[in-house]
Amino acid sequence: MDMPEGTGQDNQDWHDDEYQVPCPACGASVAFKRTDKVQVCGTCGKSVVNPGPQADR
Ligand SMILES: [Zn+2]
Repeated sequence: MDMPEGTGQDNQDWHDDEYQVPCPACGASVAFKRTDKVQVCGTCGKSVVNPGPQADR
């Protein structure tokens, strides 16, 4: 019996489009999209460089 696609496995949902990176200056979460290179922290105003999608390291 075939399983309907898209059910039961959602492990990769979190890094599909956007992810949170802690600001190195103040620790607040900054939302990055995969295509963003730099974002400005909404809390302290510092520019935060996108570290890239987080992989195992
Ligand atoms: Zn900050």
